[in-house]
Amino acid sequence: MPVGQVIRSHSNIYYVLVDGREVECRPRGKFRLDRLQVRAGDLVEVRLEPDGEGRIEKVLPRRNCLERPPVANVDQCLVVFTLVEPEADYLFLDRVLVHVEQAGVEPLILLNKIDLVEEADVSAFVRAYRDQVGYRVLPISAAEGLGLDELKRHLAGRTSVLAGHSGVGKSRLVRALEPHREDVRIGELSARSGKGRHTTRHVELIHLTDGGLLADAPGFTYLEFQDIDKWTLRDYFPEFARYRAECRYSDCLHRAEPECAVRAAVEAGAIPASRHQNYLMFLDEVEAMKRW
Ligand code: GDP
Ligand code: ZN
Repeated sequence: MPVGQVIRSHSNIYYVLVDGREVECRPRGKFRLDRLQVRAGDLVEVRLEPDGEGRIEKVLPRRNCLERPPVANVDQCLVVFTLVEPEADYLFLDRVLVHVEQAGVEPLILLNKIDLVEEADVSAFVRAYRDQVGYRVLPISAAEGLGLDELKRHLAGRTSVLAGHSGVGKSRLVRALEPHREDVRIGELSARSGKGRHTTRHVELIHLTDGGLLADAPGFTYLEFQDIDKWTLRDYFPEFARYRAECRYSDCLHRAEPECAVRAAVEAGAIPASRHQNYLMFLDEVEAMKRW
């Protein structure tokens, strides 16, 4: 039975991408009762009917599953960031990166609006977040089309979600990627409606011309950390990993402990000081949340 990926739904009709073709599917009776069982991004087994429509027979196990936006099987998060307009907000960037790490999704940092800044500033950012932290970083300009061909190669064959402050260029980027699709909009999800888990807006995965799926609602902008404690937070800073075995204490939180190799790496300039500072701020935050 062919396997496809759900890209959107509308009143119990699911549009499933099967071999590059959009098939209109209705779920079998048992799924009909609970709409939450099938969501965008789900991989489903589809029985193709003679009339060209399909029936969803089975939802395959999810690799991961986000609540906001409600998308399953997300491969990567495009974290859009700028040095100017709006001014660089490293605390926000690092907070988003922690949420992305926690969700088990791979970040791809898109440094946008490079048409507005000096090359040296771009290089410094790449040195910090790619060379020192270890993330993939792509300098781009959505306005001038710089870096978009390489970005398309990262998008092909994968399911991606956007993140980033308002004004960093998420909508502009999608327009630059899909210039002929005027219908495509990147919209925020409105706040949760009432007590339910339903968001008030449907999420659609945009089927990109050069391959890949992209959610039309950004995510990872919640401020508070949930289900993170002080012992897990440090695991979401990948640049600590290669030093922490050298810390004197194996349960070192890299704060004030003696002979901390992570802090030594910060002092030696091998880990960006702002990353460690933001880590300490988050550490205080998750500890404060546990106090009551
Ligand atoms: P969003 O809130 O993240 O969706 O941001 P928008 O896509 O609405 O972009 C905010 C503003 O930044 C708009 O005026 C865009 O035209 C502008 N913008 C987006 N990308 C670039 C870029 O690469 N270079 C320049 N100079 N402006 C850009
Ligand atoms: Zn340490």
